[in-house]
Amino acid sequence: MASVFDDLVGQEHIIDILKGAVAASRTGSESQEMTHAWVFTGPPGSGRSSAAVAFAQALICPNQGCGACNECQSAATGGHSDVEIIRTEGLSIKAEEIRELLTRVAWAPSMGGWRVVVIEDADRLTESAADALLKAIEDPGTRTVWLLCAPTLHDVLPTIRSRCRHLQLRTPSIDAVTQVLTKRDNISPTMADFAARVSQGHIGRAKYLAMNELVRSNRKVIMQLPLQLGSLAAAFQAAQTLIDLATEEANTSAKSRDEKEIENLQKAYGKGATGRGMATGAAKAVKELEKEQKSRATRMVRDSIDGALLDLATFYRDIMMAQSSNIESIINIDMREEIERYASTIPMHTAVQSMSAILEARNHLAMNSAPLVTCESLMCELARK
Ligand SMILES: [Zn+2]
Repeated sequence: MASVFDDLVGQEHIIDILKGAVAASRTGSESQEMTHAWVFTGPPGSGRSSAAVAFAQALICPNQGCGACNECQSAATGGHSDVEIIRTEGLSIKAEEIRELLTRVAWAPSMGGWRVVVIEDADRLTESAADALLKAIEDPGTRTVWLLCAPTLHDVLPTIRSRCRHLQLRTPSIDAVTQVLTKRDNISPTMADFAARVSQGHIGRAKYLAMNELVRSNRKVIMQLPLQLGSLAAAFQAAQTLIDLATEEANTSAKSRDEKEIENLQKAYGKGATGRGMATGAAKAVKELEKEQKSRATRMVRDSIDGALLDLATFYRDIMMAQSSNIESIINIDMREEIERYASTIPMHTAVQSMSAILEARNHLAMNSAPLVTCESLMCELARK
């Protein structure tokens, strides 16, 4: 029988635990298998929030997560009254948002089973938001199950993580990702293998790359940048190119989503409604939404730049592989010749230094440094090697 857990690639070790918890949850009380607070951690793309959402579906589904019934489907799209999925578009989750959430989930679950709250970016909780959440998690009286997601356990405040059961997702293997892309998404085996390889187990990224030609051609330009760092002027140009492409990519995917959201909102208010109160309410809501969209756009551009830097890091990783006569395990198979040639021209330690320079730039970006300046300083450093 199909199950909501089928889409979790390479995570067999936690699927067993989750299925056990779902079975135990049917008794309606807490047990060794079933507890009311969980943290899902795993590298980007491992599917930590998909795992949490699948668990939420299984907990409220009469068939323990069939994926086909009304409960399963409405839970996944955020339309189920007993399931709340908190997705952050901004840079942080504020105490006010958590307090609003707590008011919403204060009631007993409507179906009599469990109420489930998924917080996709628990690492973005501000300290006061985390405090507000902690009180709720500590309250054993409610029938609410908390599913928090974060990159690592360190990203969750110790007070919260000490009350949660921890599940660590793995980066799925290249083979596992290739299989999903060919079987589930009907992508050709060659393309699936390429996308899985260069995305290093990040399923969402692999699919996006495989299905989107603009993204593939942008990536190609970015991967050529290390070969063009002959002068300082070229380094500055490379930084600008990287920022431009990453911004373009983020904006393209944001634009259609933004327009659709505004259209839906206006529909909800009854577009063209003549009542004065109605028009003011709609205008205010649209303004609020546009503000949110703007903050999401900033985040998407940052994510996109970070993705480009990760791609660049694979170039230097491949150089190291080539230098240690391990050419078969390079990621960028489409650049094999360039990689071998470049590897023979630079000393061994240079690739390592370049990789740590990229990592440092990513850390700076994560701490909100200005993207262009950060990339310029990185490219200058890479050019000096
Ligand atoms: Zn179901």
